[in-house]
Amino acid sequence: MKLFGTMNNNNGILEIGGISVTDLAKQFKTPLYIMDQALIEKNIEKYKNGFKSDLFKTAIVYASKAFLSKGICQIVDKYGLDIDAVSGGELYAIKSSNFPMDRVHMDGNNKSLEELEMCIDYGIDSIIIDNIPEVINIQNIASKKDKKINALLRLNIGIDAHTHEYIKTSKNNSKFGESIYDNKIYKTMETIINSKNINFLGFHCHIGSQIFDMKSFYEAIDIMLDFSQKISLKFGNIVKEINLGGGFGVYYTEKDVAVDLEEASKLIIKYLEKSLKEKSMELEKVSIEPGRSIVANAGSTLYTVGGTKETYGGLKYIFVDGGMADNIRPALYQAEYEAAIVNKMNEEPSEDVSIAGKCCESGDIVVKNYKIAKAEIGDLVLTPTTGAYGHTMASNYNKCPIPAVVFVKDGKAKISIKRQSYEDMIINDDFIEL
Ligand SMILES: *Cc1c(COP(=O)(O)O)cnc(C)c1O
Repeated sequence: MKLFGTMNNNNGILEIGGISVTDLAKQFKTPLYIMDQALIEKNIEKYKNGFKSDLFKTAIVYASKAFLSKGICQIVDKYGLDIDAVSGGELYAIKSSNFPMDRVHMDGNNKSLEELEMCIDYGIDSIIIDNIPEVINIQNIASKKDKKINALLRLNIGIDAHTHEYIKTSKNNSKFGESIYDNKIYKTMETIINSKNINFLGFHCHIGSQIFDMKSFYEAIDIMLDFSQKISLKFGNIVKEINLGGGFGVYYTEKDVAVDLEEASKLIIKYLEKSLKEKSMELEKVSIEPGRSIVANAGSTLYTVGGTKETYGGLKYIFVDGGMADNIRPALYQAEYEAAIVNKMNEEPSEDVSIAGKCCESGDIVVKNYKIAKAEIGDLVLTPTTGAYGHTMASNYNKCPIPAVVFVKDGKAKISIKRQSYEDMIINDDFIEL
């Protein structure tokens, strides 16, 4: 198991943020999401060091769907990043964290009227428009409220970023954005430009997730700039901003060669600056929207071993007290993770096992065929890299309470999200008439 951030093997017991996993388990119980605050901050610093230019303003927009809590909003605010939401719930959570709403951007392919109203009432920075009906809805709502709202249009640029099928979002049949290859787009642009209460700023794209090859981003930049030029020729110089989305690849297993966040940011800036000069173009602002790469490796899930089983077929299972309810990614798209018995860090991994959860699904396997030390009941198993799309995708399947999230730093631990209680899970549940 690769160690990240402040993870440290202290005499056979793993520490994160200067606290041993045995102490964390004792104090907060398991399953437990542990966030390494220093590593989140370091990742943000890397983006900040790399993603800046003398030619245009830059913004790093944290994609809150990767992980969202008051704590992460506080960090994102402290470091001056913007934040993005895709639902009323995310907007509400961000507002509740006292995050400055004028640094919030709203994405999503099906924003309800209520959600669009929220965007305008909350005074967010901009809406990323997905389609024509949305333009009309925004114009109607904004004009009723006598407000003008900034907007970008999400483009489907047809790029096939080399990543897993399920997390690919920009192919020609993707549900997101308007295709630049479809002539409808000019009608859409006309509608946006003619909407008096919409201030059009530019274009947005997001070409996928877990992207490791910078060529995908270069290709996206080429297409975005060429299309912006085409639009400017037709409609005048109206493209002031582009947003290149997120998707920077992180390490889950040895198959992944993680993107260096500072290096990748610098390469994107360099490529942009060169391309703008070559095309004699100017932009006021360029944004990126990283989510996973800021929080994934900073988060881990800690479980307790409740049992082991060797099947008649010869497979060794380690049973842990969580599973697909707190980490759906392996069951949803065969995502792979590493793991270790973290109270036995000095014991050689010797057994090929599958680490299975406690839910009633055969597919409830957190880690498949992985070598760990010999496990006994009561041992602690940790899966790193669950900081993104772990907690935010958690469910109450089998009425498993969503685990607590604890932030650790410099020997201190602070609960960021309390563990759900059984009561919490049935609070909206009422009797019917018989
Ligand atoms: C999911 C998403 C992101 C973040 O993607 P990561 O892979 O987590 O970096 C950014 N922008 C949009 C529009 C998204 O849908």
